[in-house]
Order: sequence, then C-alpha cells, then structure tokens
Amino acid sequence: MVRYFLKTAAACAIAGMAASCSAADSGQDEGTIISQSAACPSSGLALQVLGSGAPIAESGHAGTSYLLWIDGEARLLIDIGSGAFLRFAEAGGDFNTLVAILLTHLHADHAGDLAGVLKYGGFTPRTRALPVIGPDAAPRFPATDEFLDALLGKDGGAFAYLGGYIDGSEDKVLLEPRAITTAMGKGDPVEIELADDLRVRAIPVHHGVVPALGFEISVGDRKLVITGDQSANSTAFEQALAGSKPDILFAHHVINGDRGQPRGLHRTPAQIGELAAALQPGRLVLTHNMNRALERIDDSRAAIAQNYAREVTVADDLDCFGL
Ligand SMILES: [Zn+2]
Ligand SMILES: [Zn+2]
Repeated sequence: MVRYFLKTAAACAIAGMAASCSAADSGQDEGTIISQSAACPSSGLALQVLGSGAPIAESGHAGTSYLLWIDGEARLLIDIGSGAFLRFAEAGGDFNTLVAILLTHLHADHAGDLAGVLKYGGFTPRTRALPVIGPDAAPRFPATDEFLDALLGKDGGAFAYLGGYIDGSEDKVLLEPRAITTAMGKGDPVEIELADDLRVRAIPVHHGVVPALGFEISVGDRKLVITGDQSANSTAFEQALAGSKPDILFAHHVINGDRGQPRGLHRTPAQIGELAAALQPGRLVLTHNMNRALERIDDSRAAIAQNYAREVTVADDLDCFGL
C-alpha cells in the first residue's frame, strides 16, 4: 500500500490538496492517510520511505531506504537496503538529480542494493560527481571508501567491471566517498552542506560493534531526523539533538527474535519513546519493521506512549511524509 501523509496546512496548500488536508490537520492518527499515490508532491519538501523493512525477507517490505524530495526532485538517497532498488524505481527516483547518497551503516539491509543503483546510474546522463557519505571502519566493517573499493574497485572489486565509478573513468560518475569518524557512537557530529539550503548532520550512534550514523537533515527551517539502527547507548546522539524539535523523527523499530540477531544493537520501543521525549519531534514514524514487530505493534505503541504522547505512525513501503 502506498500512503501519502501531509503534516501542515502549508504543505497541503503546496500540494494543491487543501480540501483533503483538513482531516490530517485535525490530528487523526491513521486518518492522516489522505491519498494514495506512488509519488511524493511535485513541490515542497517530503521524505519518502522507500523500504520500511529490515533483514528478514518479508513480502511488501524492502530493506531500509529513504528518498528526500525537494520540489519534485529526488535529492538525497539515504540507505539502499535489499529490495529498495525496485522501490527507488516505483517512487520515480532519478539518479541524475541526487546530490548525495547517505549510508547509516554497512549492514546488508541498509546497503545491499547500492551496486544495483550505481549500475543503473550508468544508464543516466549524469556526469557530475556523487558524494557517498557513511561511517568509518571497524573489524569486519570497511570504511565507506573501502566498501566502495571492495565493491567496485578495478583491482579486485566484486564488480570490478564497474570500476569507473572509483576514478570517474569509462563514462562513469566519480563517486566521492567520505567516511565519518564514529568512535562507536562517541564521535562528534559532522555538519555537511550539500546544496543551497540542504544541510546534513551526520551523528555517530551506537549499534553494537558496527560503525553507524544517524542523520539530521535540514532544508530551510524544516528538519527531520533519521535514527538509523541504534541502541540506547547512543547518548551522544541524544545529547546532540535533545530539544531540537524536528518536524519528524524516523525511528528504527526492532523486536528481538529468539535467534539470528545479536542483542544490544537496537532501542526497545520504550527506549524509542525516551528518545522521542528528549528530541520532542512533531511526529514519530516507526520504520525498519519486521512482521514480528508489526504483530506486536500495540505493545510497542503502549511502551512508547509511556514517554511520548504524540502521534506515532507505522511506515509502509513508499509512504511519503510532507514536511
Ligand atoms: Zn537494520
Ligand atoms: Zn544494522
């Protein structure tokens, strides 16, 4: 299902859907589904959840991915997990308009379809370089630049035939990797100006032994935060954003299963509520959802509500959130 959400009357007016927006503005929860479309609006600012899923292969849920839309153009791709390549196409994403790719971390459910998107990029007219911003290295996790080399490098890369992306040769777009120092969640936030009025703060988070980032994305006076995968030991992240009141907080939601998943990697729903209480977002969206979490979503909502009383939305693939 594709759902389209609008947060403000201004955004409704921008999208030319003011009549439909009165229900959304009345504060109804699930009632904020105001139209069904695979496309975000052709003007204004919106974040589209391309993939609302996580590592388990489940129908209808691609791996984690987001697309930031500004005035109808796809400007930022954030994560590109397994299956999100297809969602990028379904959303109408265009490699040619991207100003950067952001990677929260290099788990396959967040970066598994990167090679596919880059391969597709070779079929577009794009010539300008493309920044790829992600975390630094740790044992068994390459830094973002090393990851691209291991994937695409002419000398030993898994897809060495795409090696032109590393040096900008062979009609390929030059990738400009930047590895942010994470210090396992204790590193300093790094502010990056990507385009006029489009700024990103890459903020280290704690995700077990995995170098990982969350992102604060600002366009004008609008602001959204993506937690990435993070545990409650992400105290530097929480401190950096405390009281920042983003328009929307996208939180990665996980319920641990019996096996196949190390502990201590993610916030519990109650801890997501604590984070939301600290940041005070206008709206909280749960994504990175597995069926075992969706089956117990009422428990998660109740746990979150202990600390955060405002609206909580559970994302689906291709849901579009206007800011
Ligand atoms: Zn994940
Ligand atoms: Zn992860």
